[in-house]
Amino acid sequence: MKTVSKADLYRKLPSVDELVRRPALASLVSQEGQIAVTDAARAVLESLRKEISLGSLDADRVDLALSGLDSAVERQCRRALRYSLRSVINATGVILHTNLGRAPLPDSALEHIRKTAGAYSNLEFDVESGERGKRDAHMQRLFSKLLSDDVQVGPPVSTIVVNNNAAAVLLALNTLAEGGEVIVSRGELVEIGGSFRIPEIMSKANVLLREVGTTNRTRIRDYERAITEKTRLLLRVHRSNFEISGFTEQPKLEELVRLARERNIPLMEDLGSGALFDLHSIGMSGEPTVLDSLRAGVEVVTYSGDKLLGGPQAGLLSGRGDLVARMRANSLFRALRVDKLTYAALEATLMAYVKADYDSIPTLRLMRLSKEEVGRRAESVAEKVQSRQVSVEVVDGESVIGGGAAPSAAVPTRLLAVACAGMSPDKLAGRLRAFDPPIIARVEEGRVLLDLRTVFPQQDEIIVQALAQIAA
Ligand SMILES: *Cc1c(COP(=O)(O)O)cnc(C)c1O
Repeated sequence: MKTVSKADLYRKLPSVDELVRRPALASLVSQEGQIAVTDAARAVLESLRKEISLGSLDADRVDLALSGLDSAVERQCRRALRYSLRSVINATGVILHTNLGRAPLPDSALEHIRKTAGAYSNLEFDVESGERGKRDAHMQRLFSKLLSDDVQVGPPVSTIVVNNNAAAVLLALNTLAEGGEVIVSRGELVEIGGSFRIPEIMSKANVLLREVGTTNRTRIRDYERAITEKTRLLLRVHRSNFEISGFTEQPKLEELVRLARERNIPLMEDLGSGALFDLHSIGMSGEPTVLDSLRAGVEVVTYSGDKLLGGPQAGLLSGRGDLVARMRANSLFRALRVDKLTYAALEATLMAYVKADYDSIPTLRLMRLSKEEVGRRAESVAEKVQSRQVSVEVVDGESVIGGGAAPSAAVPTRLLAVACAGMSPDKLAGRLRAFDPPIIARVEEGRVLLDLRTVFPQQDEIIVQALAQIAA
């Protein structure tokens, strides 16, 4: 190895200007613009200079780096211009994964967003009269269709939309109970991920929390005894992410409804997930639908748009018309209101329910996939990537509904169990995440598990390619 001074090495580097003007980078400049390419060239040269100064590059390695300079600039440029928010392949088998964006939207929702949000719309405009309209009017028609009761026991139900379910609970508590007391069972004082805690929401809503019962047992008498002239609301909260088992007791919903009616106090239920589709039909129990609650006599129900409903992030408040009207009149409603993108996505999702086109709603479609179908796709992936380096086995397992659906709700599935010689499961999972798009897997009991239930069929081939590349 000949010794060359650092000064000589620096001299070998082109200037930023020279580099950007190279014909090889002309098409990159025309695609991404002069500024972005100049920034990338500067970053690449800077890092080379730094390596030279640290003495980590000899003359040969500098020559090698110089020969790949154009493509290094292109890679750097593309990396810098990549969106931070991007799509990933969810191979975890958790259908409603809050960290991965919960419900993927139906195509019809994306189309409706594109058509209405890429142009002006009648968001708050009554086309017929030419006068100002209300943005929530767009949802009313579909919600009343989906939540109208054939037997129509109570007054008509209306629905309003806010930013998320946490906002819906805040708005409802503040509207119905400000300055007064709200009775909740100790067994339901939940914290949902991301610091949504019922006691904290209560104090922000300026209501006093009146806890009754114990963690594992609350009886209707506990509620009864706690009612005073300050009581404004009885609240029931769905235990979304935990179960209490063993020596437990909670009053039946009918008992709460009866008590609320006797004392003329509204009963509200924070359902969390709030299914519009009867999940019994696909073998899931313990997840009441919004209509079940309303039929049972709950007067206000709050639920998320992007959990079991399968639509955009939103908080929905459905209930007795006069109570919902008070919430609409609360100035908090204005602060928590949603934009046209959400209304468009929600309207299209609700339309799919009205048409009973459940397979067009990804969340429902993924839940309804049979274990056999997931298994067939897994076998086909496994066949394509067997190699000496990578072993792929197809095994039984469970997919998880997630997103605060009944915590025990799991769906039988078939999993790809992948191992790679000389690579730890965590390392292998990291390699999968480094792909574009990143592939997110589960690591369990020393194995990397991929559940194709939450992978869209057109993404199977990407998984094949990723595994083949790791094997090579
Ligand atoms: C998920 C959940 C919430 C919070 O809903 P967001 O839409 O995420 O704000 C509140 N309550 C319950 C019971 C939940 O399951």
